[in-house]
Amino acid sequence: MSTPIPVPNEVTQPFWDAANEGRLVIQRCQACLRRQHPPHVFCLSCGGEVDFQPVSGRGRVHAYSFVHEPRNQAFADVAPYTLAVIELEEQPGLIMLSNLPGVPQDQIRPGLAVEVAFERLTPQIALPQFRPSSSVES
Ligand SMILES: [Zn+2]
Repeated sequence: MSTPIPVPNEVTQPFWDAANEGRLVIQRCQACLRRQHPPHVFCLSCGGEVDFQPVSGRGRVHAYSFVHEPRNQAFADVAPYTLAVIELEEQPGLIMLSNLPGVPQDQIRPGLAVEVAFERLTPQIALPQFRPSSSVES
């Protein structure tokens, strides 16, 4: 498997630092309190200042598809794979993408309760992924 390794930048570094410690943090606007992901230099709703706040890591599968012919050749080795849109419980419309690694396709459905699980890619990078929630009946 040779999927691309995310490269942190100035804006995303706190996100990756937290992920590396097994914590999921999401930007929140200090003015309007709206959360946003992926990270941006300011709040995309009101232009306010943002900082990173921990979230529960719980969410639900909002939508998903199975990718058989990736446009990005880097993913050709792992196709077919799942691409799922996860809506975090903290805010409607607050979404992250996940491949739901290890989850059989026939177990994936809209509304499935999931929780974050970090996939170690390198000593510096742990990728937030999601798996079916172990604590909640979905
Ligand atoms: Zn704002």
